[in-house]
Amino acid sequence: MKRTLGSLAVLGGAPAFDTPVVFGRPNIGSRKAFYDRLDKVLDSRWLSNGGVLCEEFERRVAQAAGTPYCIATCNATCALQLALRARGVTGEVIMPAFTFAATAHALSWIGLTPVLCDVDPDDGSLLLSEAEALIGPDTTAILGVHIWGRPSRLDELTSLAQRHALALIFDSAHAFGCGWNGRRIGGFGDAEVFSFHATKFINSFEGGALVTADGELARRARQMRNFGIARHDDVVSVGTNAKLHEASAAMGLTSLDDMDHFVRSNRENYRRYRDELAGTPGLRLLEVDEREASNYQYVVLDVDAARTGLDRDDLLAVLAAENVFARRYFYPGCHRMDPYRTHRPFPGTDSIAARVMVLPTGECVTADDITAVCAIIRLAVERGHEVTRCLRRAA
Ligand SMILES: *Cc1c(COP(=O)(O)O)cnc(C)c1O
Repeated sequence: MKRTLGSLAVLGGAPAFDTPVVFGRPNIGSRKAFYDRLDKVLDSRWLSNGGVLCEEFERRVAQAAGTPYCIATCNATCALQLALRARGVTGEVIMPAFTFAATAHALSWIGLTPVLCDVDPDDGSLLLSEAEALIGPDTTAILGVHIWGRPSRLDELTSLAQRHALALIFDSAHAFGCGWNGRRIGGFGDAEVFSFHATKFINSFEGGALVTADGELARRARQMRNFGIARHDDVVSVGTNAKLHEASAAMGLTSLDDMDHFVRSNRENYRRYRDELAGTPGLRLLEVDEREASNYQYVVLDVDAARTGLDRDDLLAVLAAENVFARRYFYPGCHRMDPYRTHRPFPGTDSIAARVMVLPTGECVTADDITAVCAIIRLAVERGHEVTRCLRRAA
């Protein structure tokens, strides 16, 4: 356990870890179950287009999300586009600036205009008063994001969309397995979209899903996923190819088999981080409301540089030198990315994007790893001013 400044690798000590401890290592589940499924796929010679595994995956995702309809897709970005198209969204769509670029890209790529809205600097949720002020004559939808699987103010957001007759779609890429007010994420708005990318809570290598309670929207999205084909040679809408193939479905199902286990190990990791870092001045671990369902996939640390003397990026550098790779999140915000740059100020997004990092978790991260990582964080932060001075001198 590191206790002296000189022991920090960034200041010349030996790195705490030989093998990197990394944010975003996937949980895998049972290899045997995966290989057995793959064998069945190969034996059946049905590799895509509504195969039995894709259909089973859709049933199980719908069940977990508590929604009647699920359309599995090759990724969440395409699923967002299906949702927007199937709902008939046109013109401008209001979305938070503090999100992954894919949220904005999904809109722009199909000719919609993302209108960026600032977020609450404490939790990254959409600022509702600003969202309302941004509604104009061309606005037809709000695209909400459950950042880190922490839904926020859904009643207010839903009533805002209703008051202005706007579609409401959720980028729920982080939120599979999460809940809000006792309800599962998946059933809010007109449609919600999950990601099953390798780094997400449940993975199918790459994959996504649109879930909805709207049967008509589901029917249209299902057609559009497969080139707009209604049946046989009957093309009835402008479609795309957003199908989930059977090997991905095999992985998704295998991942789902172990979902409860992933939640438990993520929760243990979250609680260990929380307990180890509790009471360290200037650090705040974003709380998970444990009364709600959660996947505990994102352990988010908020670094108040004014109190620690060490800013978030320097703390990341301290950790990286130890072979610990935490990650900035949604930095620098969509409003600072070339395609979406605007001149309006985004103080909330700027603030949270400068302060937060997501810590390594998942099955690959052990309790001892977390204890050692937290000791490094506490040491670096408690001596923050000195660490900063040393780093500046070295630079
Ligand atoms: C991962 C992610 C996406 C994109 O998901 P893909 O399945 O990779 O297309 C979209 N939005 C957010 C917030 C994400 O984190």
